[in-house]
Amino acid sequence: MDNRKNIAKTYDPKQVEDRLYKKWMDKGYFHAEIDKNKKPFTIVIPPPNITGQLHMGHALDNTLQDILIRWKRMQGYCALWLPGTDHASIANEAKIVEAMAKEGLTKEMIGREKFLERAWEWKKHYGGRIVEQLKKLGSSCDWDRERFTMDEGLSRAVKEVFIRLYKKGLIYRGERIINWCPKCNTSISDAEVEYEEQQGSFWHIKYTVKDSDEYIVIATTRPETMLGDTAVAVHPDDGRYRHLVGKKVILPLINREIPIIADEYVEKDFGTGAVKITPAHDPNDFEVGLRHNLPQIRIMNDDATMNENAGQYQGMDRYEARKRIVKDLEQLGFLVKVEGHTHNVGTCYRCGTVIEPLISKQWFVKMKPLAEPAIEIVKNGTISFVPERFSKIYFNWMENIQDWCISRQLWWGHRIPAYYCQECGHMMVDYDMPDVCPKCGSSRIEQDPDTLDTWFSSALWPFSTLGWPDNTEDLQYFYPTDVLVTGYDIIFFWVARMIFSGVEHMGKEPFKYVFIHGIVRDALGRKMSKSLGNGIDPLEIIDRYGTDALRFALTIGNSPGNDLRFSDEKVEASRNFANKIWNASRFVLMNFDDDIDFSKVDEGKFTLPDKWILSRINALTREVTENMEKFELGIALQKVYEFIWEEFCDWYIELVKPRLYDRDSEGRLEAQFVLNYVLGTAMKLLHPYMPFITEEIYTHLINDDESIMISKWPEYNEKYSFPEEEKKMRIVMDAIRNIRNIRAEMNVPASRKAKVIFVTADGENRNILMGGKSFFERLAGASEIAVQADKSGISSDAVASIIEGAEIYIPLEDLIDIEKEIERLEKEKANLEKELERVNGKLNNAGFVAKAPAKVVEEEKAKKVKYQDMYDKVVERLKALKKQ
Ligand SMILES: [Zn+2]
Ligand SMILES: [Zn+2]
Repeated sequence: MDNRKNIAKTYDPKQVEDRLYKKWMDKGYFHAEIDKNKKPFTIVIPPPNITGQLHMGHALDNTLQDILIRWKRMQGYCALWLPGTDHASIANEAKIVEAMAKEGLTKEMIGREKFLERAWEWKKHYGGRIVEQLKKLGSSCDWDRERFTMDEGLSRAVKEVFIRLYKKGLIYRGERIINWCPKCNTSISDAEVEYEEQQGSFWHIKYTVKDSDEYIVIATTRPETMLGDTAVAVHPDDGRYRHLVGKKVILPLINREIPIIADEYVEKDFGTGAVKITPAHDPNDFEVGLRHNLPQIRIMNDDATMNENAGQYQGMDRYEARKRIVKDLEQLGFLVKVEGHTHNVGTCYRCGTVIEPLISKQWFVKMKPLAEPAIEIVKNGTISFVPERFSKIYFNWMENIQDWCISRQLWWGHRIPAYYCQECGHMMVDYDMPDVCPKCGSSRIEQDPDTLDTWFSSALWPFSTLGWPDNTEDLQYFYPTDVLVTGYDIIFFWVARMIFSGVEHMGKEPFKYVFIHGIVRDALGRKMSKSLGNGIDPLEIIDRYGTDALRFALTIGNSPGNDLRFSDEKVEASRNFANKIWNASRFVLMNFDDDIDFSKVDEGKFTLPDKWILSRINALTREVTENMEKFELGIALQKVYEFIWEEFCDWYIELVKPRLYDRDSEGRLEAQFVLNYVLGTAMKLLHPYMPFITEEIYTHLINDDESIMISKWPEYNEKYSFPEEEKKMRIVMDAIRNIRNIRAEMNVPASRKAKVIFVTADGENRNILMGGKSFFERLAGASEIAVQADKSGISSDAVASIIEGAEIYIPLEDLIDIEKEIERLEKEKANLEKELERVNGKLNNAGFVAKAPAKVVEEEKAKKVKYQDMYDKVVERLKALKKQ
């Protein structure tokens, strides 16, 4: 127990954090062992990219998860925070390709097998980095259960899901319009397309009707796609074109004849009312094409150069072809006009390249049947979004959902378990590659070269990580999980897909709450970005200020779903708070005796301040727990912060000092007990937010716990509820505050004591104020205290202030030395007279007023008003003082 006084003089996070984290790991506190006597509480981590680097977004997301899990663990739940990483196929493949390019290599040059060897090497090299960084953040994850989206178990889950959905007819392979990124050289899903406003043009082009003088004008933003037109469409009710339906137009430049068709998809009143139909390069045209049995002519290669169907433009890049086509149309007289036009252009979320909608043979998940129950489970409240408003985004996405393109032309990822007979073309979907084709008996079988969208595996994360498809004990105990903590930017990508996957494969929601947080912005409210160079590295912050300070700054005052601003001042304030706690705790510990024995505490000796602070921490415990249950973590922290800083440090410690300093004072042991109890409870309430400093302090305090991490979360304790004493103390504190304000306003030095007279007719208040005598003397510079029922005997110039139920008077001569004050004011009066004389001299000088710039004259006039005002006040004050 004598280590209590060995506590370091100042708090140095570097001396504490790594040591404590290691202690927690060694003791196995993070590990969640199934315990049927406890209720489970489960969070699965949003798995960061295996080669990612911890950024502020991760820091916020994981701090919030750690707060919840530490809190629930202390509440006695079997709390599991399941960690892991994601293979992030598109992002990582791009990085590996980039690195290979530096060696002059391409994927094709080294082949699939060698490429994957490199990718796994890459994973081995960088894969542990983000995990180590999460540990620096204090994350209390169950590292024994760490998973990776491409580990054996999860890969099995992915295969199982693919095969199940395929057998149910919910996964199909088909020709569809997909979003193609020519730079990443892969298809991407709708959710991966980012729209940005761009300045473009509307080109109006003339299509001549065959065997006629008539022509139809169509407008397009992508004139190069006309090479793939297979019809012109008009609305069936459009009188202008009715006579032309069924006829043909001649496509300029390549002179192909295409039909004029009628389809209700066309908007009669938009533009000319006639549109070109390019089924291979536009999702709507694709649908029209299916209805009318139109051919699909793809005119571009995967790298966005024009292909053999583009005639003379073959080999050109899409934008070069566009220029040439426009020029040729103009020369041949087919270009009617060009209009400037702002439109939303889809770009690749990964590389920013403009995506090309094009027809491609891909694998899709049929979404409608999966979306319906997933919408229902949120509508009926089984899953709640926090804050609720984010459910709208979810519903909007799910209700308008298109089939999900899941195949990617990438090598790093889960390879699609489909196999093709090279002899007869028969397709098989199976767990393993079949030896022979069941149709023709050939053994020439090849697997589909594509891999699955990364989100296909992360959609299964809440159950695949717990052992699914096996019905493991973990799965039975920890599923459904409780809370998913994530940013609003991945509601489509991830949250929505986990929900329908959980419902489909587990028959149950994957989690009960989706706790959404905002993004971390810089001090000016801007998004952190590479181009602005305003990113803040959380590891650097940890290095400079400590992990607790970072976590505090990310959480304080922040509310669910809202963005927050991060600034140096904020972390500095957080560090200052840590120092304040440290100093207060050190003071408490230094005032414990070596032979302290709380079994001898006599609760009957609790004083007014003791009961007040016990009652306050009791109320705080209840409020903070309620806030946390509503995910109001920032508000809860704010309350703990204010309690520790103001009520505990600034008030209670000051109030009990005399009892501590005097070894023989009555109630000394009780004061020590209350300090230990309240500080220990406050540390517990703060622990989820600032795990390190609270552990370091708590283990120095007097208790039976080997760690605050596994100590019991405080509960409201009726025994320590003292509403009467709280009220009394509030009156005393209000009075002290008011007296201090008066003294501060009048610049009264601390050494100067003054008599304080309270006037109150209320007998109870009278007792309360008399009882506070020693506090007024010590904390409010009172020389003596009087409490009386009326104002008799109080001089009219006494300084007054009012608190609830009483008036406060302090005789003026007690606060200031009247002779000296008169002397000072006389001097000030003389100075002001001089100033006024100078200003008046200037303003009465006609030459100055005429010649000086108007602004200068105005300034002088303003000065005159100001000095006159000050002068009047000084004179008035002097008059009052001289009356004494
Ligand atoms: Zn891209
Ligand atoms: Zn075959």
